[in-house]
Amino acid sequence: MPLSGPGPRRVLVLGGTSDARRLATLLEGRAHVTSSLAGRVRAPVLPPGEVRIGGFGGIDGLVAYLRSSGTDVVVDATHPFAARMSAHAAAASRATGIPLVQLRRPGWEPDPSWTVLPSLVAAAAVLPGIGRRIFLTTGRQELAVFAGLDDLWFLARSVDPPAGPVPRHLHTILDRGPFTVAGETALMREHGIDVLVTKDSGGDMTAAKLDAARELDIPVVIVARPPLPPGFSQVTTAEDGVALLFAQPE
Ligand code: NAP
Repeated sequence: MPLSGPGPRRVLVLGGTSDARRLATLLEGRAHVTSSLAGRVRAPVLPPGEVRIGGFGGIDGLVAYLRSSGTDVVVDATHPFAARMSAHAAAASRATGIPLVQLRRPGWEPDPSWTVLPSLVAAAAVLPGIGRRIFLTTGRQELAVFAGLDDLWFLARSVDPPAGPVPRHLHTILDRGPFTVAGETALMREHGIDVLVTKDSGGDMTAAKLDAARELDIPVVIVARPPLPPGFSQVTTAEDGVALLFAQPE
């Protein structure tokens, strides 16, 4: 379903990212914006404007929400690894005919030295052959993937404490970006890190660890992004998102 001028009145921004917050900020005064958060983070950084928190109840729930709220456009500005929400947004857009724009910041410029793998499970499988002291910045929800690796020591950093099963030898740091190269270098030195595992989240807020690992000559294992549902308009910045939403039809 194509976007049509002169710009949307009600925009639903599926959020949880700094790009989603930036988009809500840029749209202030130009459209009625509702930002939606999953509710995973205890004290989220909130965007300006209306915010709703919690799942919609699957595709049917999202379809019902879109219809009852009078939403004109949905912007999927979720994290690149929030694949289920992105799939639901695509399905709900198809079901309702309400246009969907996918806002995804680019992944990090790949370094030939990185080991790029398709999943966290694949990353966990290669770790014993690479190092012993692992820095995990893969999020608190999926530490269970590393739980069987009893011979390895893990440093995990997340915004909130880990949920579910965790590795036996685990030290957790609660912190949120942006991080600096100096800080990341000091952290990895302090803990004797010999492997960094991360997802290809992209963006400047958390890229410093990659520069620090390069400086320290620490191997990097990186999980590739899941693909976005095809067939929708895509932008890589909030600014381009606004331009697309307010583009005049030819
Ligand atoms: P997910 O697996 O794609 O989604 C699981 C379920 O959570 C969805 O089916 C939906 O529930 C609910 N949900 C997700 N995002 C939502 C949103 N923005 N608003 C309302 N409901 C939402 O998502 P996830 O990977 O757990 O990520 C959850 C949130 O954290 C996302 O908003 C994402 O932007 C943010 N985040 C994720 C990561 C990551 O690495 N995955 C990192 C940083 C931030 P219903 O089916 O009930 O609607």
